[in-house]
Amino acid sequence: MTKLAVRESQNLRAVQELNMIEAPYSDKMRALCYEVSGHDELPHVVKFSGGKSSGLLLFILLEAGLLKAERGDVVVFNNTSAEHPATYDFVGRCKELTEAGYGIPFFLTEFQTYEDARNREWSRLPTYRLVHPTPWSETNLDGYHWRGEVFEEMLSWKGYTPNQFKRTCTSNLKLGPTRAFLKDWFACKQHTERLGHFGKSSRLDDDELYERHIRSRGNVPRDIFLWKKAYVRSRPAFRPPQRFADYSQAASPISNPHLEGKCFGDVAFFGVGGVDYLAFVGLRNDEKRRVMRVRQRNAGGPDSVGYEGEHVYLPLSDIGVTKEEVDAFWEKQTWGLSLHAEDGLSNCTYCFLKGARGLHRVHAALESGFQKSFENTPCDLQWWVEIEEKYGRDLEAEKRDIRSPVADNFIGFFGTQSGFSYQRLAQSHGDEAELSRFANSVLPCDCTD
Ligand code: SF4
Repeated sequence: MTKLAVRESQNLRAVQELNMIEAPYSDKMRALCYEVSGHDELPHVVKFSGGKSSGLLLFILLEAGLLKAERGDVVVFNNTSAEHPATYDFVGRCKELTEAGYGIPFFLTEFQTYEDARNREWSRLPTYRLVHPTPWSETNLDGYHWRGEVFEEMLSWKGYTPNQFKRTCTSNLKLGPTRAFLKDWFACKQHTERLGHFGKSSRLDDDELYERHIRSRGNVPRDIFLWKKAYVRSRPAFRPPQRFADYSQAASPISNPHLEGKCFGDVAFFGVGGVDYLAFVGLRNDEKRRVMRVRQRNAGGPDSVGYEGEHVYLPLSDIGVTKEEVDAFWEKQTWGLSLHAEDGLSNCTYCFLKGARGLHRVHAALESGFQKSFENTPCDLQWWVEIEEKYGRDLEAEKRDIRSPVADNFIGFFGTQSGFSYQRLAQSHGDEAELSRFANSVLPCDCTD
């Protein structure tokens, strides 16, 4: 079969499957007005979380004909490497249909670090890479990671765990890679540049690294500090150049006057005189608190820092779509995300924002369907226990002056005072009394907002 024939047969398959997707909201969506005149000319970015709501949003936008490849429109999914395998299957299917059926590029990105010299010192700097929608293996080095590698690289790079007040995972694994990707994408080039030195091994030196830690007023004992840094230093020291067309069959030349003259060097910039774009997020009408927060931010509210040039649209909320309607929509399809909503397995499997009871439900669901391939991956609670122990902060070892009470002198994913941890979750065996002590730690995960 020629390449063209393969492409045509893929398109046919996609269209056949898409015919089964009813898009009852497309008419309402077409009638939606842009908030500001001229917004229809700006590139549209769909922030795809891998969940059912963002899946519905994506196909409504596509069915309504609101996405255009030549304008620079694009769909982006940020892989944390800690999602459930069913989520990756769903993302892969959505990507395939979006590209083959509608010709809109859909990229999977991952956080990664690389080594470069800054102020005459070697450092690990953050960036992103493009990955294929097939799992990483020794024979598929450009596939997506799914064994927690990306998540641990970020923990090792930062040297501590995120918590509900310091969402370093959201900012580094999701927001940062999206912005970095968009800077390359809106530069309308064919590929990303190589980043990092050409050495065969890491150029970071133990003594220099530790000296820098002390200079920046760190207190972590040397052996613990170097142990935490070992993982990130074992990761690739460079990012190769990557051609967009190798990661999306729908990548094609962009022709949008709004993107012209908006580059600084090789990359586009945001802010005064820079690129403006629309970001489409799948928040529903029943998610009032999250919707309000995003709207405040969009209006220049207190959280607006770091989102220059981004104008957020929440079409599902605007046309009144609720969770029940999202579920009803997917129940009618012959394919979809094969996770039960009540198990709470979307996003990072054991995300600390799911709260004690939510995490217990996650654990019960994963344990009952445990497969050998889950071992030592984020689908295994033990993986979370170990990374929390490794990257959590031992205040006694750091000789910290502790002014307010900190349970067990340890700060992990659950903050300072709750006393909850993945170890406690493992030991609770679902005991209601034990879990109810920590029930207040529930917060909605709003990673992609
Ligand atoms: S889903 Fe939870 S653990 Fe994962 S990046 Fe978001 S906040 Fe962090």
